[in-house]
Amino acid sequence: MKRRVCWLEKACKACGVVLPLAKFGRHPGGLDGRETRCRRCKRLARNSALRQRERDRVRAWQKSARGRELHREAQRRRRLNPEVRIGKRMSEMLRKALGASKRGMSWKTYVDFTPEALRKHLEERFVDGMNWEAFMRGEIHIDHVVPQACFRFSTPGDIAFRQCWSLSNLQPLWAKDNIAKGARLTAHG
Ligand SMILES: [Zn+2]
Repeated sequence: MKRRVCWLEKACKACGVVLPLAKFGRHPGGLDGRETRCRRCKRLARNSALRQRERDRVRAWQKSARGRELHREAQRRRRLNPEVRIGKRMSEMLRKALGASKRGMSWKTYVDFTPEALRKHLEERFVDGMNWEAFMRGEIHIDHVVPQACFRFSTPGDIAFRQCWSLSNLQPLWAKDNIAKGARLTAHG
């Protein structure tokens, strides 16, 4: 019969903390019948090994021909999705309106409607010949019915800001008409 040393506690090989033997998993081959690393350290090591294996698996998939193909396809679909484009436009517009105070926050935090609601709203107001293809080509702008210059606000929390960026103050407008509108406002302002 193998002789066993019977410690009541020992230091974990990994974290160095002295712990009661019960904190170590059983290991029949060991001198004291226990693992050298505590249960917690064993678990952490197992989890990080699992995470690493998962990362390797994902990376291998991304590098595979099929993975790359699906990635390109997803990118193409994203580019063709009106809501994605609307989001980009709104983000640019709000960055221009707020400057540094946008603070890298998503445009969605500054308005009280969803991208989907805005898409529907704009689509309902499309006039002759307007469609998402034209919007994607940059021929249609998201325009403020009452121009931004008419609203005075100092923070995005101001009621004037809310009114300026409310759904009802946004409409689709042909880019050429928008540019003409801008020129008219400048001439009058
Ligand atoms: Zn440990």
